Amino acid sequence: MELEEKLRILAGAAKYDVSCSSSGSNRPNTGGTGNAAVSGICHAWTADGRCVSLLKVLYTNLCSFDCSYCFCRRSNDVPRASFSPDELARLTMAFYRRNYIEGLFLSSAVAVNPDRTMERLIRVAEILRFREGFQGYIHMKAIPGADLALVTRLGFLVDRMSINMEFSTHRQLHLLAPDKQAGQIRGAMLSVRDTINEFSNLPAVRRNDTRFVPAGQSTQMIVGAGDDTDSDILSSAQNMYREMRMKRVFYSAYIPVNLPHPLAVASPVPLRREHRIYQADWLIRFYGFEAGELLTPGANLDLAVDPKAAWAVQHHDQFPVNVNRAPYEMLLRVPGIGVKSAKRIVASRRMGRLTYDSLAKIGVVMKRASHFLTAEGTRATPVIDQPERLYRLLTDGTAQTHQQLSFFDGVP
Ligand code: SF4
Repeated sequence: MELEEKLRILAGAAKYDVSCSSSGSNRPNTGGTGNAAVSGICHAWTADGRCVSLLKVLYTNLCSFDCSYCFCRRSNDVPRASFSPDELARLTMAFYRRNYIEGLFLSSAVAVNPDRTMERLIRVAEILRFREGFQGYIHMKAIPGADLALVTRLGFLVDRMSINMEFSTHRQLHLLAPDKQAGQIRGAMLSVRDTINEFSNLPAVRRNDTRFVPAGQSTQMIVGAGDDTDSDILSSAQNMYREMRMKRVFYSAYIPVNLPHPLAVASPVPLRREHRIYQADWLIRFYGFEAGELLTPGANLDLAVDPKAAWAVQHHDQFPVNVNRAPYEMLLRVPGIGVKSAKRIVASRRMGRLTYDSLAKIGVVMKRASHFLTAEGTRATPVIDQPERLYRLLTDGTAQTHQQLSFFDGVP
């Protein structure tokens, strides 16, 4: 098979992997410039905050596993292809030299067995690092079930490593990905965490010579392919951030991409569900929320309002807060106040009392926040103490129908 054809198949198969941020658009080129639907190059953020473009591709899509939700599963009837380590390294370097990419995001199906596949991925990384002298960003997926010594070896070659968790419960993983074992996935994550800890504690002078996964580890969970609720998913993510020191948990709304499989869900999951889970994930990481505060066990997030607004409506008895006195932690819970504006409020009120007018100037979104706070001066909108009215005010437009309106919909 021609290299170009392999690239077409294996870059196309990699687009379902979201642990590397990239466009989810499906707008093809119909004769103009650019194409948002083409797979192959995606963008990611490095540890120092730079945005880099990566060649996003699978090493092979020839899988010996049969995960019900996956495009590459062995029982799916799709064209198959594999690179050799040398081909893939040459391709990466060729794209790099042409300035198309700054790094590589490499994942793979499980060809033959996990160890064999892992050895191939390591070989790609070794050729790039040692033969080609490539110092750019490499993000690779560790293969579930591979020997931990191989996982560690790969960790010394790449910047970021992902090991996909897939589901929040062992039962779902066992049912939908019967060849994978939750204990092995967890064991690999713990091993990566411990080695990261070991090397980050080295004296700075030695750390520069020996880097182990310097951009940290990440994982991915599938939303809606099984029966995990949003509360299961967020509790599991919270544990991974705390216990495994995960840099990121990515969420992927399930899309039916398969020939019929007895266990595969037939309809796609609304992207808005994935979006709400990302918002709740953000609240857990940066706003001091616990997963259990956002959702009761077994519940899903409200699609019509964002999770912070939903929490505020449910706890309307804790509002309004006085911006001139409220602690930082409580300011973060006010809809319309973000981390930056909460910090600015705390800094500004040392200089004098804050008024409604000054809040808008320091970045507070008053359209939302004004219902939940008090400040000096005359307020433009009243505090609303009826939760139903608050809820209606905070509902975001099209969410109630979950449909995009056309330009003329709703025009009288
Ligand atoms: S191991 Fe499962 S999820 Fe991974 S490529 Fe194979 S079938 Fe897909």
